[in-house]
Amino acid sequence: MTARVLVVDDILANVKLLEARLQAEYFEVLTAYSGAEALEICARERVDVVLLDVMMPGMDGFEVCRRLKAEPRTQDVPVIMVTALDQPSDKLQGLEAGADDFLTKPVDEIALITRVKNLARLKMLDDEMALRAATSSQIGIERGAASVQAREIKSGRLLLVDDNPRSVSRILDTLSKTHDAFVERDIGAALKMVNKFNFDLVVVSIGLSDADGLRLCSQIRSIERTRHLPLIMLVDPGDEARLLRGLDMGVNDYVIRPVDRHELLARVRTQIRRKRHSDFLRNRLEESVEMAVTDPLTGLFNRRYMETHLNGLMQEAKAEGRDLSIMIADIDYFKRINDSYGHDAGDTVLQDFAARLKRHTRGIDLACRFGGEEFIVIMPDTDLEVARHVGERLRERIAEAPFSINSQTSLPVTACVGLATLEGPEDTPTSLFKRADNALYAAKRSGRNRVMSEAA
Ligand code: GH3
Ligand code: MG
Ligand code: MG
Repeated sequence: MTARVLVVDDILANVKLLEARLQAEYFEVLTAYSGAEALEICARERVDVVLLDVMMPGMDGFEVCRRLKAEPRTQDVPVIMVTALDQPSDKLQGLEAGADDFLTKPVDEIALITRVKNLARLKMLDDEMALRAATSSQIGIERGAASVQAREIKSGRLLLVDDNPRSVSRILDTLSKTHDAFVERDIGAALKMVNKFNFDLVVVSIGLSDADGLRLCSQIRSIERTRHLPLIMLVDPGDEARLLRGLDMGVNDYVIRPVDRHELLARVRTQIRRKRHSDFLRNRLEESVEMAVTDPLTGLFNRRYMETHLNGLMQEAKAEGRDLSIMIADIDYFKRINDSYGHDAGDTVLQDFAARLKRHTRGIDLACRFGGEEFIVIMPDTDLEVARHVGERLRERIAEAPFSINSQTSLPVTACVGLATLEGPEDTPTSLFKRADNALYAAKRSGRNRVMSEAA
């Protein structure tokens, strides 16, 4: 999807110039010649970034920005203020009106494209978050609160890599009010820091006196753990070659020295928000994948996952002539626990049972809740004799210590275990299950709290 940029300026030539440059980078461009027209367009259609001239007759850029940010429908549309003179007071006023970044006339081409790209990316994440929140509430999951929280977080943990004491103290002074800022002077030590701690952003001076800041950026980009970590570089004026190299290797944004506090704050905030939003969306994805394969009560794998994997594991074992055993464990008289102490007490017993099961099986064993109070463990590389030991050990660990269902009450619980092992090329998941299930019922019939196995 190409981002739609609205260019607002009262002077035709300015609009045309920005329009041409943005179109050359394949942005879709809308234009407006007054504040009123800009507000009307934003209310009517999707706009991903607004480039807003400050000085316009009638409604000025600050007022347009304030109105956009005050309206729920347009508050997430990023605004870049285009100031005529490099006036810090304009930037301060812009920040107070809610502007997301600044450009100074005459507009520098690299700066234009970098700002628009960063804010367009942030807007896409915002849109995605809003969409997820809407979908979640439609299907009845209370996700709205978490997503609002992720969107409103404005402070983060950042690492400043710079070796100029005056610059360091000035930057810290600017950032520490809102953020948790750390400083490192040496790029080797900085690389260790980012690998060890979770930073939201790294600000790197590329003009270090005895090291190459760009090398650090490239290392951060090449390591899996930090590949997505936002990077802002501090660049000396006129060092365009290195600035471009940095952007090429994936540095997200830059600030030209001498560092303007408002610019730095705005860019830091944009990068931290972007990081928070993409982390949030990534975690949601992992969480939903996890939900599809695990049982929510016990955290063990669910039946669907187990069935999918048993097939593959059996084929592998057959092809390589290796052992494989399965165990079905079923709690004895579980219905009585529910009936006497309630369903919640039953759930607590299931959770403790699952925890003991997990503790007494190996990492490569696949422990699943098959349904109700029935559990399955698939044990690769395990013959029937070893499986009997595992089953017996589990039976003992269940029977030896009572299960507490609340602070006052503990109950003795026992379980039966049925075992079967892979016996030949004709064995299928169904036949293996059948034998383990027969063994389980034999154990139940013979009085419970017992381990049995069935051979083919
Ligand atoms: P047996 O010794 O023969 O295994 O008897 P049992 O009572 O353990 O077995 P039965 O299959 O008759 O009863 C199982 C009970 O497990 C019935 C069902 O209500 C209960 N149950 C199934 N799923 C859950 C659950 O998620 N939570 C709780 N608390 N109970 C459950
Ligand atoms: Mg039972
Ligand atoms: Mg049962």
